[in-house]
Amino acid sequence: MPTRDFSKARRIVIKLGTGVLTERGHFDAIHFARLTADLADIAKNHELTLVSSGAVALGVERLGLSKRPKTVSSKQAAAAIGQGLLMNRYENAFGAAGFCVAQVLLTHGDFSSRTRYLNARRAFECLFAHGAIPVVNENDTVSVDEIKLGDNDNLAGLVAGLISADLLIIASDVDGLYSADPRVDPKAERISFVEAVTPEIESLAGGSRSGVGTGGMATKVHAARCAAEAGVPTVIVNGKAPGILPRVLSGEDVGTLFGACLAPLSARKRWLAHALRPKGVLRVDDGARNAVLTLKRSLLPSGIRAVEGDFGHGDPVDVADLSGQVFARGLCTHDSETLRRIAGRHSDEIEAILGQGFEEEAIHRDDLVDISHEPTPTPRPPAA
Ligand code: GLU
Repeated sequence: MPTRDFSKARRIVIKLGTGVLTERGHFDAIHFARLTADLADIAKNHELTLVSSGAVALGVERLGLSKRPKTVSSKQAAAAIGQGLLMNRYENAFGAAGFCVAQVLLTHGDFSSRTRYLNARRAFECLFAHGAIPVVNENDTVSVDEIKLGDNDNLAGLVAGLISADLLIIASDVDGLYSADPRVDPKAERISFVEAVTPEIESLAGGSRSGVGTGGMATKVHAARCAAEAGVPTVIVNGKAPGILPRVLSGEDVGTLFGACLAPLSARKRWLAHALRPKGVLRVDDGARNAVLTLKRSLLPSGIRAVEGDFGHGDPVDVADLSGQVFARGLCTHDSETLRRIAGRHSDEIEAILGQGFEEEAIHRDDLVDISHEPTPTPRPPAA
């Protein structure tokens, strides 16, 4: 069991879900005052970034709607109205404690485009240099489903990697990950520490959902995995519990701690694994699966049994085994039409089809990342 003393973690990302900020659908001003008082204390000794939901909920309340809207445009409108109200509340709370807040609205493209990613990172560094507290949300008003990050858990995991945080705290309305659903199974026990996100851990998280936000436990566990691969440990806690954030930082055994990988993935491999949307799937045989996962080789056309989707040269694709289980993602050297012509063929046959000077790999090793559940992460103590 690793140490839980996070008092020396320099850079901390805290995600506050809608369920933490609202009570029965309404903004919970009393709890917000308590939370922001704790957060202001934390900001005195750490570089704090918040990933805050609540824009849609505040917009819904301001518009006098009885429930969260269903259509994309109504959610966009509610978010546009609520985001300003949300920032106003943070500005009032942190301004009174002597801090500036900074609104940072991000979309999927800010993580998938390298230039935008680096721009965002520079902006964060500058905000920290000014002692400001960035308050991040998805830019809901311009994000439609196809390009959405989707939920703020995912966003928080990506932000933790973007700014090389030392700790991610996901404050939700659940007490952490349980051995079973605690609402139906009285024997369910809180899991204090998760060394690695395995398929068993993901299936434990699969069923539970909170009612008011977008994500359930599955998205939180996915965010923890994304942070772990960037070398950042995550604690999932119940943000409604009094004084929970200082309790996490002082090392109390609350919520579920997910250890960080000892050998984090490079920024490029994380980008491949988490920031790109695959445009197709390559189904490969067992030999090719073994070559990629065990031997850490490039994927060759000879092992490809089927090419699904239409994609261009250099587009991201998933790699799946014959049962359909996706285990890797990478940038494809050939477009889908060319790849269909050479799938299952050996190099000497490919030369006859494509002519001399063709690219031998379907996906080069450097452009390929293992996204199976076979990593061997090891917990690391928080950065001193
Ligand atoms: N961005 C949404 C909001 O501010 C929340 C998304 C989520 O709950 O994950 O309301």
